Amino acid sequence: MTDHHAMPWDRPAPEREGLPSAWSLFPEELAAIGCPGSALETFRRLHRPWTWKGGAPDLGSGIRRWLEGVADLRLPRLAERQPSSDGSTKLALELADGRRIEAVHMPRRVRNPRVTYCISSQVGCAMGCTFCATGSMGILRNLQPGEILGQVLALMADLGPDRGHELTLVFMGMGEPLHNLDHLHRAIRLMCHPAGLGLGKNRITVSTSGLVSGIEKLSKLEPRPLLALSLNATTDEARSRTMPVNRVWNLARLRRALDDWAPRRGEKFCFEYVLLAGENDTEADAQRLADWLGDLRRGHNLNLIPMNEHAASAFREPGEDRVQQFSEWLKARGCFVTVRRSRGRDVQGACGQLVKES
Ligand code: SAH
Ligand code: SF4
Repeated sequence: MTDHHAMPWDRPAPEREGLPSAWSLFPEELAAIGCPGSALETFRRLHRPWTWKGGAPDLGSGIRRWLEGVADLRLPRLAERQPSSDGSTKLALELADGRRIEAVHMPRRVRNPRVTYCISSQVGCAMGCTFCATGSMGILRNLQPGEILGQVLALMADLGPDRGHELTLVFMGMGEPLHNLDHLHRAIRLMCHPAGLGLGKNRITVSTSGLVSGIEKLSKLEPRPLLALSLNATTDEARSRTMPVNRVWNLARLRRALDDWAPRRGEKFCFEYVLLAGENDTEADAQRLADWLGDLRRGHNLNLIPMNEHAASAFREPGEDRVQQFSEWLKARGCFVTVRRSRGRDVQGACGQLVKES
């Protein structure tokens, strides 16, 4: 073979078709398909990038040869990186079929090893929110569990942090995570495995546009991650216009799903509200938003995100005065509010700007 020295994960796609990703299998599944040697140790070496050598897992040659025959050892490839002036880096990752997804690497600002990754769950998105760049591309496909986790491992291997406990994940990249719930949750179970990254479930936030059927399913799964909700409007009429999902599950129905979730100790909801100039930024909106939150005003977080403008949407960012004013209106009504200036704005890596033509 001419590519004798190439790593298996560098190989082109065809011969790998149909094989599961090596990163989608739990130790007991590795054992069940005949792992020679310790399946737990093999899992550990695959899932802990800080033990890798030269950007790839340090597997013994026998295990590697066996794995190559039964699994796909390719990870998403970092195809492009755009550092932003705020310290974050936007990455384009290329999948085995050549499709691209995006992720953002966001270190905490000062002398702190902790890093947050914003990662994707789908290539594109089917939900069609009118302010969102990803929404404008439609859905191309779901990510596989090994691809969801693979984003994390590829970023860690290249950019750090060096340990699982220094990592926080938010599913706020491309896609509606609850539209790909089975794969998402398998990836979460793999990430939380103590022999792998060992992430705590409260270090993972799944952001949804309000897919109530998915919220209800996720609420019963273990490990149960934190939930973020993208509200972005305060009447059904307005929300159905900008977020089509609201035509199926309206604001009242969504609110009930949160009561049913019944947050446990240490669990907080994160509410996201994209401020769209002249659309959802009046005092009446602030009042309705506070009313809708009701007892969730306290003890949970409300993030105001000024619209990140992009070519696929006519919505504009309100002026700074209005952003501050809207925040004050909510604070006066007892809400815990943060204005979140999206990171990576200068490289179009901010919320809703993760769009990539493949
Ligand atoms: N599909 C999920 C997660 C990905 S979108 C969701 O909708 O929650 C992540 C966040 O980016 C959401 O809160 C969404 O409302 C926000 N967003 C989308 N487009 C945006 C834009 N143009 N400017 C600012 N935030 C945007
Ligand atoms: Fe999809 Fe979220 Fe964008 Fe809506 S805001 S189109 S759900 S990615």
